[in-house]
Amino acid sequence: MQVYADNAATTRMSRTAVDAMMPYFTEIFANPSSLHSPGQQAKEALDAARKTVADCLGCEPREIIFTSGGSEADNQAILSAARYGAKKGKKHIISTAFEHHAVLHTLAKLEKEGFEVTYLDVREGHNVKASQVRDALREDTCLVTTMYANNEIGSVLPIEEIGAICAEAGVPFHTDAVQAAGHLHINVKEQHIDMLSLSAHKFHGPKGVGALYVRKGIPLVNVIEGGAQERGKRAGTENVAGICGMAAALKEACDHIDENTAKVSAMRDYLIENLSKIPHSALNGDPVHRLPGNVSFCFEGIEGESLLLLLDMHGIAASSGSACTSGSLDPSHVLLAIGRVHDVAHGSLRLSLSEYNTMEEMEHIAKTVPEVVAYLRNMSPVWRDLQTGKRQYIL
Ligand SMILES: *Cc1c(COP(=O)(O)O)cnc(C)c1O
Repeated sequence: MQVYADNAATTRMSRTAVDAMMPYFTEIFANPSSLHSPGQQAKEALDAARKTVADCLGCEPREIIFTSGGSEADNQAILSAARYGAKKGKKHIISTAFEHHAVLHTLAKLEKEGFEVTYLDVREGHNVKASQVRDALREDTCLVTTMYANNEIGSVLPIEEIGAICAEAGVPFHTDAVQAAGHLHINVKEQHIDMLSLSAHKFHGPKGVGALYVRKGIPLVNVIEGGAQERGKRAGTENVAGICGMAAALKEACDHIDENTAKVSAMRDYLIENLSKIPHSALNGDPVHRLPGNVSFCFEGIEGESLLLLLDMHGIAASSGSACTSGSLDPSHVLLAIGRVHDVAHGSLRLSLSEYNTMEEMEHIAKTVPEVVAYLRNMSPVWRDLQTGKRQYIL
Protein backbone atom coordinates (compact mmCIF):
# COMPACT_ATOMS: atom_id res chain seq x y z
CA MET A 1 0.00 0.00 0.00
CA GLN A 2 1.29 3.45 -0.95
CA VAL A 3 0.21 6.22 1.43
CA TYR A 4 0.93 9.90 0.85
CA ALA A 5 0.87 11.61 4.25
CA ASP A 6 2.93 14.71 3.51
CA ASN A 7 0.22 17.16 2.48
CA ALA A 8 1.71 20.00 4.51
CA ALA A 9 4.69 19.87 2.15
CA THR A 10 2.55 19.81 -0.95
CA THR A 11 -0.65 18.25 -2.27
CA ARG A 12 -1.76 16.32 -5.32
CA MET A 13 -3.57 18.60 -7.78
CA SER A 14 -7.31 18.11 -7.98
CA ARG A 15 -8.85 17.06 -11.29
CA THR A 16 -10.89 20.28 -11.23
CA ALA A 17 -7.74 22.38 -10.93
CA VAL A 18 -5.95 20.50 -13.72
CA ASP A 19 -8.98 20.87 -16.02
CA ALA A 20 -9.23 24.57 -15.20
CA MET A 21 -5.63 25.10 -16.32
CA MET A 22 -5.61 23.19 -19.60
CA PRO A 23 -7.16 25.79 -21.97
CA TYR A 24 -4.55 28.37 -20.93
CA PHE A 25 -1.64 26.33 -22.23
CA THR A 26 -3.09 26.01 -25.71
CA GLU A 27 -6.13 27.92 -26.94
CA ILE A 28 -6.03 30.89 -24.58
CA PHE A 29 -2.28 31.41 -24.42
CA ALA A 30 -2.02 35.13 -25.19
CA ASN A 31 -0.47 37.66 -22.85
CA PRO A 32 -3.16 39.23 -20.64
CA SER A 33 -1.44 42.59 -21.04
CA SER A 34 -1.87 42.48 -24.84
CA LEU A 35 -4.59 44.68 -26.24
CA HIS A 36 -5.78 42.28 -28.97
CA SER A 37 -8.78 40.04 -28.44
CA PRO A 38 -6.85 36.87 -27.55
CA GLY A 39 -4.98 38.92 -24.93
CA GLN A 40 -8.24 40.30 -23.61
CA GLN A 41 -9.61 36.79 -23.37
CA ALA A 42 -6.67 35.86 -21.13
CA LYS A 43 -7.25 39.06 -19.16
CA GLU A 44 -10.87 38.04 -18.58
CA ALA A 45 -9.73 34.69 -17.20
CA LEU A 46 -7.36 36.51 -14.86
CA ASP A 47 -10.14 38.83 -13.69
CA ALA A 48 -12.47 35.91 -13.07
CA ALA A 49 -9.79 34.09 -11.07
CA ARG A 50 -9.13 37.20 -9.01
CA LYS A 51 -12.85 37.49 -8.25
CA THR A 52 -13.00 33.82 -7.22
CA VAL A 53 -10.02 34.13 -4.86
CA ALA A 54 -11.41 37.38 -3.40
CA ASP A 55 -14.82 35.77 -2.79
CA CYS A 56 -13.16 32.89 -0.92
CA LEU A 57 -11.36 35.33 1.40
CA GLY A 58 -14.17 37.86 1.80
CA CYS A 59 -12.38 40.77 0.14
CA GLU A 60 -12.50 42.78 -3.09
CA PRO A 61 -10.76 41.55 -6.25
CA ARG A 62 -8.49 44.59 -6.35
CA GLU A 63 -7.15 43.63 -2.94
CA ILE A 64 -5.59 40.46 -4.43
CA ILE A 65 -2.05 40.37 -5.90
CA PHE A 66 -0.95 37.17 -7.59
CA THR A 67 2.54 35.99 -6.69
CA SER A 68 4.83 33.01 -7.31
CA GLY A 69 3.71 31.40 -4.05
CA GLY A 70 3.57 31.71 -0.30
CA SER A 71 7.21 32.65 0.20
CA GLU A 72 7.03 35.62 -2.15
CA ALA A 73 3.77 36.82 -0.61
CA ASP A 74 5.30 36.64 2.89
CA ASN A 75 8.40 38.54 1.74
CA GLN A 76 6.36 41.27 0.07
CA ALA A 77 3.94 41.75 2.96
CA ILE A 78 6.66 41.99 5.60
CA LEU A 79 9.06 44.16 3.59
CA SER A 80 6.19 46.52 2.67
CA ALA A 81 5.14 47.08 6.26
CA ALA A 82 8.77 47.48 7.33
CA ARG A 83 9.59 50.07 4.67
CA TYR A 84 6.46 52.06 5.48
CA GLY A 85 7.14 51.80 9.21
CA ALA A 86 10.74 52.95 8.82
CA LYS A 87 9.55 56.08 7.02
CA LYS A 88 7.57 56.97 10.14
CA GLY A 89 10.41 56.03 12.49
CA LYS A 90 8.75 52.77 13.53
CA LYS A 91 11.10 49.81 13.44
CA HIS A 92 9.60 47.22 15.80
CA ILE A 93 7.89 44.04 14.55
CA ILE A 94 6.00 41.37 16.49
CA SER A 95 6.04 37.77 15.26
CA THR A 96 6.26 34.28 16.76
CA ALA A 97 9.09 31.86 17.35
CA PHE A 98 7.53 29.13 15.17
CA GLU A 99 6.94 30.95 11.87
CA HIS A 100 7.87 29.48 8.49
CA HIS A 101 11.37 30.34 7.25
CA ALA A 102 9.87 32.60 4.55
CA VAL A 103 8.85 34.86 7.44
CA LEU A 104 11.77 34.22 9.82
CA HIS A 105 14.47 34.80 7.22
CA THR A 106 12.80 38.00 6.02
CA LEU A 107 12.66 39.21 9.62
CA ALA A 108 16.32 38.28 10.14
CA LYS A 109 17.21 40.42 7.14
CA LEU A 110 15.31 43.34 8.65
CA GLU A 111 17.04 42.84 12.01
CA LYS A 112 20.37 43.28 10.22
CA GLU A 113 19.01 46.59 8.93
CA GLY A 114 18.25 47.78 12.44
CA PHE A 115 14.69 46.56 12.99
CA GLU A 116 13.83 45.01 16.34
CA VAL A 117 11.69 41.88 16.33
CA THR A 118 9.79 40.39 19.28
CA TYR A 119 9.32 36.64 18.76
CA LEU A 120 6.40 35.55 20.90
CA ASP A 121 6.99 32.49 23.04
CA VAL A 122 5.01 29.43 21.93
CA ARG A 123 5.88 26.97 24.70
CA GLU A 124 2.62 27.31 26.61
CA GLY A 125 -0.02 25.21 24.88
CA HIS A 126 2.21 25.12 21.78
CA ASN A 127 0.38 28.23 20.66
CA VAL A 128 0.20 32.01 21.01
CA LYS A 129 -2.35 33.84 23.12
CA ALA A 130 -3.75 37.09 21.76
CA SER A 131 -2.84 38.78 25.05
CA GLN A 132 0.85 38.12 24.25
CA VAL A 133 0.45 40.30 21.17
CA ARG A 134 -1.22 43.05 23.19
CA ASP A 135 1.58 42.95 25.79
CA ALA A 136 4.28 43.15 23.11
CA LEU A 137 2.82 46.15 21.26
CA ARG A 138 4.88 49.33 21.40
CA GLU A 139 4.61 52.90 20.14
CA ASP A 140 7.07 52.02 17.39
CA THR A 141 5.49 48.71 16.30
CA CYS A 142 5.01 48.82 12.52
CA LEU A 143 3.80 45.24 11.95
CA VAL A 144 2.38 42.17 13.62
CA THR A 145 2.98 39.02 11.55
CA THR A 146 1.78 35.69 12.94
CA MET A 147 1.00 32.57 10.99
CA TYR A 148 -2.62 31.39 10.79
CA ALA A 149 -1.71 27.77 11.37
CA ASN A 150 1.64 26.11 11.91
CA ASN A 151 2.90 23.84 9.12
CA GLU A 152 4.85 21.46 11.38
CA ILE A 153 2.74 21.00 14.47
CA GLY A 154 -0.69 22.13 13.27
CA SER A 155 -1.49 24.73 15.95
CA VAL A 156 -4.17 27.17 14.78
CA LEU A 157 -3.63 30.66 16.15
CA PRO A 158 -6.36 32.98 17.55
CA ILE A 159 -6.26 35.10 14.40
CA GLU A 160 -9.50 37.00 14.89
CA GLU A 161 -8.50 38.08 18.42
CA ILE A 162 -5.02 39.09 17.29
CA GLY A 163 -6.55 40.99 14.37
CA ALA A 164 -8.92 42.87 16.68
CA ILE A 165 -6.05 43.90 18.97
CA CYS A 166 -4.00 45.14 16.00
CA ALA A 167 -6.96 47.02 14.52
CA GLU A 168 -7.58 48.74 17.83
CA ALA A 169 -3.90 49.71 18.11
CA GLY A 170 -3.75 50.81 14.46
CA VAL A 171 -0.91 48.39 13.68
CA PRO A 172 -0.96 46.48 10.37
CA PHE A 173 -1.55 42.74 10.77
CA HIS A 174 -0.19 40.16 8.31
CA THR A 175 -0.84 36.44 8.53
CA ASP A 176 0.90 33.62 6.69
CA ALA A 177 -2.24 31.59 5.96
CA VAL A 178 -0.54 29.10 3.66
CA GLN A 179 -1.61 26.12 5.79
CA ALA A 180 -5.06 27.56 6.47
CA ALA A 181 -6.35 28.64 3.07
CA GLY A 182 -8.77 26.07 1.71
CA HIS A 183 -8.71 24.19 5.02
CA LEU A 184 -10.13 26.67 7.56
CA HIS A 185 -12.83 29.32 7.20
CA ILE A 186 -11.25 32.69 6.41
CA ASN A 187 -12.89 36.09 6.24
CA VAL A 188 -10.29 38.83 6.20
CA LYS A 189 -12.75 41.60 7.07
CA GLU A 190 -14.35 39.84 10.03
CA GLN A 191 -10.93 38.72 11.24
CA HIS A 192 -9.37 42.20 10.91
CA ILE A 193 -6.57 40.90 8.65
CA ASP A 194 -4.67 43.56 6.69
CA MET A 195 -2.43 41.23 4.68
CA LEU A 196 -2.65 37.49 4.09
CA SER A 197 -0.42 35.06 2.16
CA LEU A 198 -1.60 31.85 0.53
CA SER A 199 -0.14 29.25 -1.81
CA ALA A 200 -2.00 27.10 -4.35
CA HIS A 201 -0.02 23.89 -3.94
CA LYS A 202 -1.13 23.49 -0.32
CA PHE A 203 -4.79 23.10 -1.34
CA HIS A 204 -4.58 20.84 -4.42
CA GLY A 205 -3.60 23.63 -6.82
CA PRO A 206 -0.39 23.98 -8.84
CA LYS A 207 3.07 24.80 -7.46
CA GLY A 208 4.68 28.16 -8.09
CA VAL A 209 1.59 30.30 -7.70
CA GLY A 210 0.10 32.09 -4.72
CA ALA A 211 -1.60 35.27 -3.68
CA LEU A 212 -1.23 38.17 -1.31
CA TYR A 213 -4.35 39.86 -0.01
CA VAL A 214 -3.64 43.48 0.86
CA ARG A 215 -6.35 45.61 2.40
CA LYS A 216 -7.14 48.73 0.43
CA GLY A 217 -5.00 51.60 1.71
CA ILE A 218 -2.09 49.47 2.92
CA PRO A 219 1.01 50.60 0.97
CA LEU A 220 3.04 47.92 -0.83
CA VAL A 221 6.61 47.87 -2.10
CA ASN A 222 7.68 45.73 -5.03
CA VAL A 223 9.81 42.67 -4.55
CA ILE A 224 9.93 42.04 -8.31
CA GLU A 225 10.52 45.17 -10.42
CA GLY A 226 9.56 45.45 -14.06
CA GLY A 227 6.27 45.84 -15.89
CA ALA A 228 2.99 47.24 -14.64
CA GLN A 229 1.23 43.93 -13.99
CA GLU A 230 -0.79 43.50 -10.78
CA ARG A 231 -1.44 47.25 -10.49
CA GLY A 232 2.30 47.89 -10.64
CA LYS A 233 2.88 45.90 -7.45
CA ARG A 234 4.27 42.70 -8.90
CA ALA A 235 6.00 42.71 -12.27
CA GLY A 236 6.15 39.79 -14.69
CA THR A 237 3.72 38.25 -17.16
CA GLU A 238 1.06 36.55 -15.10
CA ASN A 239 1.05 32.77 -14.77
CA VAL A 240 -2.46 32.66 -16.24
CA ALA A 241 -2.82 28.87 -16.23
CA GLY A 242 -1.46 28.60 -12.70
CA ILE A 243 -3.67 31.39 -11.44
CA CYS A 244 -6.77 29.80 -12.99
CA GLY A 245 -5.78 26.45 -11.45
CA MET A 246 -5.32 28.10 -8.06
CA ALA A 247 -8.71 29.82 -8.23
CA ALA A 248 -10.46 26.58 -9.19
CA ALA A 249 -8.68 24.65 -6.42
CA LEU A 250 -9.46 27.28 -3.79
CA LYS A 251 -13.12 27.45 -4.76
CA GLU A 252 -13.40 23.67 -4.71
CA ALA A 253 -11.72 23.51 -1.29
CA CYS A 254 -13.89 26.26 0.16
CA ASP A 255 -17.09 24.75 -1.26
CA HIS A 256 -16.31 21.45 0.48
CA ILE A 257 -14.57 22.77 3.56
CA ASP A 258 -16.96 21.37 6.17
CA GLU A 259 -17.18 17.86 4.75
CA ASN A 260 -13.42 17.75 4.18
CA THR A 261 -12.78 18.93 7.74
CA ALA A 262 -15.08 16.24 9.12
CA LYS A 263 -13.44 13.49 7.09
CA VAL A 264 -9.82 14.59 7.60
CA SER A 265 -10.10 15.38 11.30
CA ALA A 266 -11.65 11.96 11.97
CA MET A 267 -8.58 10.34 10.37
CA ARG A 268 -6.30 12.69 12.33
CA ASP A 269 -7.99 11.83 15.63
CA TYR A 270 -7.75 8.11 14.91
CA LEU A 271 -4.00 8.41 14.34
CA ILE A 272 -3.43 10.63 17.37
CA GLU A 273 -5.33 8.19 19.56
CA ASN A 274 -3.35 5.22 18.28
CA LEU A 275 0.11 6.77 18.16
CA SER A 276 -0.33 8.23 21.66
CA LYS A 277 -0.27 4.62 22.91
CA ILE A 278 3.42 4.35 21.95
CA PRO A 279 5.36 4.61 25.24
CA HIS A 280 7.51 7.70 25.75
CA SER A 281 5.87 9.66 22.95
CA ALA A 282 4.35 13.13 22.94
CA LEU A 283 1.96 14.96 20.67
CA ASN A 284 3.33 18.22 19.31
CA GLY A 285 1.07 21.21 18.76
CA ASP A 286 -2.17 22.51 20.21
CA PRO A 287 -4.40 19.49 20.90
CA VAL A 288 -7.62 21.50 20.51
CA HIS A 289 -6.97 24.34 18.09
CA ARG A 290 -5.43 22.18 15.43
CA LEU A 291 -5.35 21.83 11.64
CA PRO A 292 -7.71 19.03 10.55
CA GLY A 293 -4.90 17.12 8.82
CA ASN A 294 -1.97 17.48 11.20
CA VAL A 295 -0.51 14.66 13.30
CA SER A 296 2.87 15.48 14.87
CA PHE A 297 4.72 13.39 17.44
CA CYS A 298 8.07 13.08 19.13
CA PHE A 299 9.25 9.58 20.05
CA GLU A 300 12.05 9.37 22.57
CA GLY A 301 15.16 7.32 21.77
CA ILE A 302 14.96 7.30 17.96
CA GLU A 303 16.11 9.36 14.99
CA GLY A 304 13.35 10.91 12.90
CA GLU A 305 15.34 10.37 9.70
CA SER A 306 15.65 6.63 10.24
CA LEU A 307 11.96 6.48 11.03
CA LEU A 308 11.14 8.24 7.77
CA LEU A 309 13.30 5.90 5.70
CA LEU A 310 11.72 2.82 7.24
CA LEU A 311 8.23 4.22 6.82
CA ASP A 312 9.06 4.94 3.19
CA MET A 313 10.03 1.28 2.78
CA HIS A 314 6.57 0.43 4.12
CA GLY A 315 5.00 2.72 1.51
CA ILE A 316 4.32 5.64 3.85
CA ALA A 317 5.49 9.08 2.69
CA ALA A 318 5.77 11.31 5.76
CA SER A 319 8.05 14.03 7.08
CA SER A 320 10.11 14.54 10.19
CA GLY A 321 8.80 18.07 10.30
CA SER A 322 12.37 19.06 10.86
CA ALA A 323 14.71 21.27 8.93
CA CYS A 324 17.51 18.72 8.89
CA THR A 325 17.23 17.88 5.24
CA SER A 326 20.71 18.69 4.04
CA GLY A 327 22.65 16.67 6.58
CA SER A 328 22.47 19.48 9.09
CA LEU A 329 22.16 18.25 12.67
CA ASP A 330 19.94 21.12 13.76
CA PRO A 331 16.50 19.92 14.77
CA SER A 332 13.40 21.80 13.72
CA HIS A 333 13.21 25.38 15.04
CA VAL A 334 9.49 24.81 15.61
CA LEU A 335 10.02 21.83 17.92
CA LEU A 336 12.72 23.71 19.83
CA ALA A 337 10.39 26.72 20.05
CA ILE A 338 7.68 24.68 21.77
CA GLY A 339 10.29 23.53 24.28
CA ARG A 340 11.35 20.11 23.04
CA VAL A 341 14.98 19.44 23.91
CA HIS A 342 17.38 18.51 21.07
CA ASP A 343 17.35 14.74 21.67
CA VAL A 344 13.57 14.58 21.71
CA ALA A 345 13.13 16.99 18.80
CA HIS A 346 15.28 14.67 16.66
CA GLY A 347 12.75 11.85 17.04
CA SER A 348 9.90 13.65 15.34
CA LEU A 349 7.28 12.52 12.85
CA ARG A 350 4.74 14.63 10.96
CA LEU A 351 1.89 12.97 9.13
CA SER A 352 -0.20 15.49 7.21
CA LEU A 353 -3.45 14.26 5.71
CA SER A 354 -5.88 15.39 3.06
CA GLU A 355 -9.35 14.35 1.94
CA TYR A 356 -7.66 12.08 -0.62
CA ASN A 357 -6.47 9.80 2.19
CA THR A 358 -8.59 6.88 3.37
CA MET A 359 -9.33 5.20 6.69
CA GLU A 360 -7.71 2.04 5.33
CA GLU A 361 -4.48 4.01 4.89
CA MET A 362 -4.76 5.27 8.47
CA GLU A 363 -5.01 1.67 9.68
CA HIS A 364 -1.81 0.87 7.78
CA ILE A 365 -0.06 3.85 9.42
CA ALA A 366 -1.40 3.03 12.88
CA LYS A 367 -0.09 -0.54 12.55
CA THR A 368 3.27 0.33 10.95
CA VAL A 369 4.49 3.30 13.03
CA PRO A 370 4.51 1.47 16.42
CA GLU A 371 6.33 -1.50 14.83
CA VAL A 372 8.96 0.70 13.23
CA VAL A 373 9.45 2.77 16.39
CA ALA A 374 9.93 -0.44 18.43
CA TYR A 375 12.35 -1.82 15.83
CA LEU A 376 14.48 1.35 15.89
CA ARG A 377 14.46 1.53 19.67
CA ASN A 378 15.71 -2.05 19.85
CA MET A 379 18.86 -1.05 17.97
CA SER A 380 19.33 2.29 19.69
CA PRO A 381 22.10 2.71 22.28
CA VAL A 382 20.23 5.75 23.63
CA TRP A 383 17.15 3.63 24.20
CA ARG A 384 19.24 1.00 26.00
CA ASP A 385 20.64 3.71 28.31
CA LEU A 386 17.13 4.93 29.00
CA GLN A 387 15.94 1.44 29.82
CA THR A 388 18.85 0.63 32.10
CA GLY A 389 18.48 3.93 33.92
CA LYS A 390 21.80 5.34 32.68
CA ARG A 391 19.80 8.17 31.19
CA GLN A 392 16.56 9.74 32.39
CA TYR A 393 13.45 9.67 30.22
CA ILE A 394 12.26 13.09 29.20
CA LEU A 395 8.90 12.02 27.73
C1 LIG B 1 4.51 26.00 2.27
C2 LIG B 1 4.53 27.16 3.17
C3 LIG B 1 5.07 28.39 2.76
C4 LIG B 1 5.78 28.57 1.44
O1 LIG B 1 4.90 28.54 0.35
P1 LIG B 1 5.51 28.32 -1.12
O2 LIG B 1 4.35 28.54 -2.02
O3 LIG B 1 6.02 26.94 -1.16
O4 LIG B 1 6.56 29.35 -1.32
C5 LIG B 1 5.01 29.45 3.62
N1 LIG B 1 4.42 29.34 4.83
C6 LIG B 1 3.87 28.18 5.27
C7 LIG B 1 3.21 28.13 6.59
C8 LIG B 1 3.91 27.05 4.44
O5 LIG B 1 3.39 25.92 4.87
